[in-house]
Amino acid sequence: MAKNFDLVVIGAGPGGYIAAIRAAQLGMSVACVDAWSDEKGKPAPGGTCTNVGCIPSKALLQSSEHYEQADKHFAEHGIKVKGLELKLDTLLGRKDKVVNENNQGILFLFKKNKVTFFHGKAAFNAKVDAGWSIKVNGKEAEELVAKHVVVATGSSARSFPNLPFDEKTVLSNDGALRLTEVPKKLGVIGAGVIGLELGSVWRRLGAEVTILEGAPEFLAAADRDVAKEALSALTKQGLEIKLGAKVGEVKASGKGVSVAYKDSADKEHNAEFDKLIVSIGRVPNTDGLGAETVGLKLDERGFVEVDDDCRTNLPNVWAVGDVVRGPMLAHKAEDEGVAVAERISGQQPHINFDTIPWVIYTSPEMAWVGKTEQDLKKEGRDYRMGKFPFMANGRARALGDTTGFVKILADAKTDEVLGVHIVGPTASELIAEAVVIMEFRGAAEDIARICHAHPTLSEAMKEAALAVDKRALNF
Ligand code: FAD
Repeated sequence: MAKNFDLVVIGAGPGGYIAAIRAAQLGMSVACVDAWSDEKGKPAPGGTCTNVGCIPSKALLQSSEHYEQADKHFAEHGIKVKGLELKLDTLLGRKDKVVNENNQGILFLFKKNKVTFFHGKAAFNAKVDAGWSIKVNGKEAEELVAKHVVVATGSSARSFPNLPFDEKTVLSNDGALRLTEVPKKLGVIGAGVIGLELGSVWRRLGAEVTILEGAPEFLAAADRDVAKEALSALTKQGLEIKLGAKVGEVKASGKGVSVAYKDSADKEHNAEFDKLIVSIGRVPNTDGLGAETVGLKLDERGFVEVDDDCRTNLPNVWAVGDVVRGPMLAHKAEDEGVAVAERISGQQPHINFDTIPWVIYTSPEMAWVGKTEQDLKKEGRDYRMGKFPFMANGRARALGDTTGFVKILADAKTDEVLGVHIVGPTASELIAEAVVIMEFRGAAEDIARICHAHPTLSEAMKEAALAVDKRALNF
């Protein structure tokens, strides 16, 4: 017998599980279906983000940062470490524990909010009088009928042409988070967020890492000053980043991988690696969803087509997160999930895509929101720029981490903050203040007049705001 719900959410990643919880808070009867299983076959809700994305990568970045600090930087603090040893199995075990705690946390939240969870793969079955019939293919087959459906099926790693992931030698983000030995030579194709973060993890743990990036510019979407500072810092740490590298034939054997590429001067090279991470983008998960059964429209790249409010071409069918247009970020997926739940219940929420922050958790971290300086130049907009280096910040000096700066771009006439770009310690946390000020369409002077605790890294934000008016106090 079919089970009836006001809303069925397909996928329990950050887009799906948050949509389910918000809808339940608003009084709907909600089911959430997710196919992800842990190594024992148990449900592991949380999607890419929890299982093979945001959470495990940050756990490994933290552990590897501790290792590098102990190895290279404790001595500056007068701390001598003898017999430093890496226990990779413990490090990976800790990461798995963090992931599992998050999986369990989501199951707990479903119970608390009375969201019914189904473990299995869901597919559209038919349009029925009461809404949509959804088949769940799990331990037991189920039929659910829902007035509304949210598709939140996420994305998967894109493989290199003719080079499937074997997760032993040719790795997606999944295999790259589970290597049981530190490779001697690690190749990475793609210097995007994932390539830089995972490349950093394994470099810190002892691998010789080479990143091959086809684009001639480093992090083309970032402000040029941020990209330049980060490239210089990452290169100094030992990451070899080859820009304008056009990868040709890649041959993988059980023992390793050879990668043929042409450099920016068209010179041919052949690089040999023990392992290769391929991080060249992600593809939407729509296989087996039954999109064609009910006529759910996909665009030419396979994304579910939606309007600004995440409505698909079918009545009462919505889609959010990585499976639709826009940045592939967990917080974007979450905000869309909340907005859709509220829209279904008759509210009129709004997402401001211009104030979605971007973060790269390398060391130094990078974070930005809004327009870059190159955007403003292209638009011909009159702006003022204020920049403050962490070198001149007392807390950064005390931490022993003075790389980078805060840069604020403000409208020349109104002083409205148009973009904030940070490279340096805890950039991921500092960017929140910039997002708030931009959401309220605040001015650089607003930041400059707000009292910031001393000594904190956040004072660099205040000083950069003062610098917009050429009156920084400590630089
Ligand atoms: P997903 O998280 O992909 O979840 C989709 C879920 O749907 C999965 O559990 C999947 O199994 C399930 N599913 C798919 N099809 C079906 C079906 N037919 N039936 C049932 N279930 C189905 N973003 C950030 O914002 N910050 C970061 O630091 C960050 N780090 C990242 C690091 C890495 C290595 C990677 C790979 C990604 C990272 N991301 C980060 C991106 C982030 O993980 C994604 O943007 C986010 O997970 C998208 O959420 P989602 O809910 O749309 O989809």
